[in-house]
Amino acid sequence: MWKDDNDDIEKLWHRFIIKSDRYPCICPVCGNISAHIYLHRYKESKGSVWMWCSKCKNCSHGTMIIPNWWNDDNFIDLDKTASHPDYLENKKILIDNYVNKILDN
Ligand SMILES: [Zn+2]
Repeated sequence: MWKDDNDDIEKLWHRFIIKSDRYPCICPVCGNISAHIYLHRYKESKGSVWMWCSKCKNCSHGTMIIPNWWNDDNFIDLDKTASHPDYLENKKILIDNYVNKILDN
């Protein structure tokens, strides 16, 4: 179901760190307004990042340097996350609202 071999989805990260998107945002692969991002800091500056599109199902998961303005949420159960964003997709409205709130701070 998910496709994780298209690096174009990672353009979402570059747009995230300059705060240029609000979510859901335009997917760099299919052009629909259906792309999301979720991140969680696990150690000082490093953390896990997921980027995915609900429409074309391209996704990416990896370790990144987390911006210092990012604050972790308390509504995502990290034990339920996996490389592919099935669990996060089900929480996307909560996630989008949370991310947008941080970006607008
Ligand atoms: Zn897409």
